[in-house]
Amino acid sequence: MESMISNYIIIVSISGVLSALLALFAFYRKTDFSGLNAFIVSSAASAVYTFAFALELSGSSMQEIKFWIQLEYLGMPYIAPSSLLMIMHFVGLERLITRKLLIFLYSIPLISTVLVWTNDLHHLFYQSIYFRQNAPAPLVDIVMGPWYIVQGSLTFGCMLAGMCLILWRWSRMRRAYLRQMLIIFTGQFLPALGAFLYLMDLTPYGMDPVPVVMSVTSSLYIWAILSRGMLTAAPIARENLFESMRDGVLVMDLSDKLVDYNRAAAEMLEGLDAAAIGRPLAQLFLPAGREAADYVMNSNPQDSEERELVWHADGEVRYYQVRSSPVLKHDGLLAGRMIMLIDVTERTLLQEKLLQLATIDSLTGIYNRTHYLELSRERLKEAADTATPFSIILLDVDFFKSINDRYGHQYGDMALQHVVNVCRRHLRPDDIFGRYGGEEFVLSLPGATLQEAAGTAERIRADLEQSVLSTLSGPITLTASFGAAEAFRSPQPLEELLSEADHALYSSKRNGRNTVHLSSGASITRYMPG
Ligand code: GH3
Ligand code: MG
Ligand code: MG
Repeated sequence: MESMISNYIIIVSISGVLSALLALFAFYRKTDFSGLNAFIVSSAASAVYTFAFALELSGSSMQEIKFWIQLEYLGMPYIAPSSLLMIMHFVGLERLITRKLLIFLYSIPLISTVLVWTNDLHHLFYQSIYFRQNAPAPLVDIVMGPWYIVQGSLTFGCMLAGMCLILWRWSRMRRAYLRQMLIIFTGQFLPALGAFLYLMDLTPYGMDPVPVVMSVTSSLYIWAILSRGMLTAAPIARENLFESMRDGVLVMDLSDKLVDYNRAAAEMLEGLDAAAIGRPLAQLFLPAGREAADYVMNSNPQDSEERELVWHADGEVRYYQVRSSPVLKHDGLLAGRMIMLIDVTERTLLQEKLLQLATIDSLTGIYNRTHYLELSRERLKEAADTATPFSIILLDVDFFKSINDRYGHQYGDMALQHVVNVCRRHLRPDDIFGRYGGEEFVLSLPGATLQEAAGTAERIRADLEQSVLSTLSGPITLTASFGAAEAFRSPQPLEELLSEADHALYSSKRNGRNTVHLSSGASITRYMPG
């Protein structure tokens, strides 16, 4: 019997060493796991408790034993609350760890420690401590005081809560973390079971089996930390991050088959669900359209690349920035690739809108002056480079002020739209049409000679004269005066060309309006069709 006790003492001491080692391992492990501190506190408290327990077992006088019990209570009450906190971090509930909870979880153990050290004064923790009869060695037994029950409830409560949290998250945990979960669960369950048996007085000689059990759980933890990379990150926190991302993520293996995806990706790609795991990437992108599927098919998984793609989702056009980047293993070898889908629809639509505002005249829908000039300058340069003709037509509505005056501004606007519609009927696809000023319009005709431009101007003039604008206030007849010029000198600045056309237009205004005048070199002539 005596030897059984000494073996027991040895096992308990080993358990203490293991707990101390565990605390050190955890302490020196640089990780981003936020629950690591709680784990270190729990392991260190376990070490204190177990060593003191070993010494209690080897104690012979009541005085000595009482002292070691007091030492035990520097560690024991803090183990379960710290473990619970670690588990809360592990399952991603750190936001519930408030100051209030911390005060609650640690104030009871603190009171316990104080009460144990001063127990002789009030007997609130132990009503009495006495030597057990018929024991092979001096083993003590106790009669619980009221605070003993409070502390016991906290310890069991924390252990139970920890186990419940793990079971609750079990199904949501990724496969890779199940082993860690199992180890943490065992680390909770075995000591809880031991403590329960101890309280029910079902252990031999009423000895506390928890320190022995902890040698098993500590070993398990040490093994998991060293070989399994345990406590490197809180899996649920990672999982939550992955799931809560606004950007879609697809993880593909080496053969470009789906390994994992997040919720945002499922919302972006039709048909992306659990059944899609293992499907080839191109197939996943097919519902998004040929272009998207072709792109992902033809992109190299080893390259980082980015592309903007358009696809239809739920009947609306969406714009996505698709970013493909290789995923490397620790040893630098390719493991697959990650595809990120960033919804840029709002940004793209806004850009389109801004572009439209910057280039299009809102009343008539044709180019504004700035954009007209920009485009025409390019085309004029091209024409000079390729020695092809380039002409422009300037037109100004006749007596437009009187239309405004007679019918009102609103009808004036309608008249301007009408003029634009008439002009459009005579444009070729390459022509550049812009609003030059209030009721003045300008046309660039790449490839057209002065005579051809004059023909176009004349056709527009005649068409406008004949196309009566019918309104609620009666028919409005509009005419316009035209000036045309051709680029003869090369390179010729656009401004010079516009100025020539303007002179020709001025001649049309002076000579009765509703006519076409041409500027060629220094002379301006009226165009006579036929
Ligand atoms: P002319 O034959 O000599 O060109 O006579 P006009 O009345 O057309 O000449 P003027 O250039 O003096 O008048 C142009 C008028 O066009 C002045 C302005 O109130 C009007 N206008 C300019 N922009 C707009 C517009 O966007 N909407 C309307 N309704 N009127 C406009
Ligand atoms: Mg005018
Ligand atoms: Mg004018």
